[in-house]
Amino acid sequence: MKALVLRGHGDLTRLAIADVPAPAIMGPRQVLIRLRAAALNHLDLWTMRGLPGLSLQFPHILGGDGAGEVEAVGSDVTAVRPGDKVMINPGVACYHCETCDAGEHSLCPEYQLLGEHLPGTLAEYLVVPEQNVRRIPDPPAPHPPITWREAAAFSLVTLTAWRMLITRARLRPGEVVLIWGVGGGVSGAALKIAKLTGALAIVTSSSEAKLEAARGLGADVTLNHTQVDVAKEVRAVTEKRGADVVVENVGEATWEQSLRALAKRGRLVSCGATTGPRVVTDVRRMFWHQHTIMGSTMGNLAEYREIVRLLGQGHLRPTVDAAFSLADGIRAMERLDRGEQMGKIVLDV
Ligand SMILES: [Zn+2]
Repeated sequence: MKALVLRGHGDLTRLAIADVPAPAIMGPRQVLIRLRAAALNHLDLWTMRGLPGLSLQFPHILGGDGAGEVEAVGSDVTAVRPGDKVMINPGVACYHCETCDAGEHSLCPEYQLLGEHLPGTLAEYLVVPEQNVRRIPDPPAPHPPITWREAAAFSLVTLTAWRMLITRARLRPGEVVLIWGVGGGVSGAALKIAKLTGALAIVTSSSEAKLEAARGLGADVTLNHTQVDVAKEVRAVTEKRGADVVVENVGEATWEQSLRALAKRGRLVSCGATTGPRVVTDVRRMFWHQHTIMGSTMGNLAEYREIVRLLGQGHLRPTVDAAFSLADGIRAMERLDRGEQMGKIVLDV
């Protein structure tokens, strides 16, 4: 089968469209999927460049997000049948340890991500446990049907943002949330979740075009972080109160501003550090204002079920930035690397 593979860690020149063996069902609860669309994530660039502790066999298939048709199922599979149209949860847990039994799959000691630790979705076929697929829901009229591209673009970023805002930060209606870099996938999903919750959303970007698009998606306040002091602006638009929740995935470049933007009893929730992981925290501000700083990664099966249910009600539809064919996948990765996208870059398989 055709796949977008990594031939070794490094830059974009290590990517190739290659012919690789198609995977086969090896266990009774596995599902073989014929992919119809896949989506890129910033994680694919991290995996390409190499991550501490990650040791891969090459060629390695990239991609965490995808959607397609069930081609075949293992003997004990009950959740889906051949022909079902499914979307894929990229986080694969063991599903039998104490942590999994407690429903906390993204904390499972064996938790792995498609495309990072496991063969990914930028390919014609994929095998995953049946726990990792859900049927693509059908929203009621007047909502248009969910497209393959939307189904592929949905899972990783929406699951990540849902756990951050709802499960971890416990965002409530009427609260103020600050979201950095709204062109990114997690940030875009966080904006939709914030609006669905009834929160006031302040978003930032370095691009006026992305801020304009964010206003179209419901952003209440848009800030160009290359031109204004974000913390000061957040205080100005909240009558000096600050943001109840800050969504962080930038790290070193924004951390201190994020803390200065937080209201008393504010919660900062981080899922990444694209500009570097070593941040500075003034502990005096943190205890005096009773801040909470928390981490979050991906999500569990209950959270995934909930976001797919909401998608089926017409909510949280992902923003598709651009679509490429699988054969043009390297150009798609170049676009991701340049950070030009507003929303998700999708590959038609
Ligand atoms: Zn487990």
